Amino acid sequence: MRTRDTEILHAGEGMPSAATPITTPIYSATTFAFPNAAELERFQQGKSDHYIYSRYGNPTVQAAEAKLAAAEGGESAMVTSSGMAATSTALFGLLQTGDEVVCASSIYGGTLQVLTQFLDRFGITTRFVSLEALTHVGSLLGPKTKVVWFETPTNPTLRCVDIAGVTEACRARGVLSIVDNTFASPINQRPLALGADLVMHSATKYLNGHSDVTAGALIGSRAIIDRLAPARKLLGGILEPASAYALARGMKTLAVRVAQHNANAQAVAEFLERQPQVSRVFYPGLASHPDAAIARAQMTGFGGMICFECAGGYEGAVRTFDRVQLFQRAASLGGVESLCSLPVLTSQYGLDDTQLAAAGVTRGMLRLSVGLESSRDLIDDLGQALA
Ligand code: PLP
Repeated sequence: MRTRDTEILHAGEGMPSAATPITTPIYSATTFAFPNAAELERFQQGKSDHYIYSRYGNPTVQAAEAKLAAAEGGESAMVTSSGMAATSTALFGLLQTGDEVVCASSIYGGTLQVLTQFLDRFGITTRFVSLEALTHVGSLLGPKTKVVWFETPTNPTLRCVDIAGVTEACRARGVLSIVDNTFASPINQRPLALGADLVMHSATKYLNGHSDVTAGALIGSRAIIDRLAPARKLLGGILEPASAYALARGMKTLAVRVAQHNANAQAVAEFLERQPQVSRVFYPGLASHPDAAIARAQMTGFGGMICFECAGGYEGAVRTFDRVQLFQRAASLGGVESLCSLPVLTSQYGLDDTQLAAAGVTRGMLRLSVGLESSRDLIDDLGQALA
């Protein structure tokens, strides 16, 4: 007979055998019990799919990973505690001292800083190249180049890189290509089908879609994800189960959300292009976009991100930014609610004119993350803010 205190501790724990949930529950347990030594030994030999410890793997996390692999058309996926955890897990997992990364210079600031402030310390160098140079990347790959990293569309001007062109050149030289697919989402663009070895996401954005989870993802072949497993396990960047549950729930509506983001952004971009207070609109779904042909060839939708330049320069951009009422003045992107940001006060803050010119950014630019409100209301809001 056990004592009452022991009974309170153990009663009701574990999964009830009569319950068949239609969603994978949040397995908040940090550790999982084994029936006997034989099963534990099988696990250690890699012959058992048993779970042991939630930093290594967890059923709720695995449910989110299955959805990510399905979305990107990859054999396997890994979710992490942020987009930056995905980036650092991939880079530290694949590279060693003496290796070189070739990276597009139009890249998320955090990615750039990991390369220049951390990998650099371990003797892993990075060559930053323009998007134009990336179109003939074959000639840039040296004997030390192990990884080519780029994102498309880019932030904030939504320039597009010909994924198949770059990945083909990488394959020919045995170099891994990694694409940050955050802006497009797998609904609009699937880099693995275009030859990429690994896709990275800030799942904080469209994949979760509700601005309430910070997460990241890596998707690719089973071989490459297995190669990265020790880095996630030992650097400790796995996503925790409650966030993995929220991410998996967000993924269920990804396709319908992205279809609406695409439609709303196209309508808003076409509206902005007609406004005299707007000197230029950057949206891959507009014929005026410099990379419209690349976008049409590799994307099935053009996403929810728009950048535009106010004719009144910085003062015009600030005035518009301060006057929007439905768009919220906030960084980040990809959620159901529409956001407006000023690149020179966020992603490009502190850059001088030469650096801004290199990034293709001007002081009069505003960036929109077009959400799921009615496009009529979004257009009315921008109309009154610009007037
Ligand atoms: N990649 C892109 C394109 C991003 O926009 C971001 C974040 O804004 C990241 C990576 C980093 O993701 P996280 O903030 O989830 O770490």
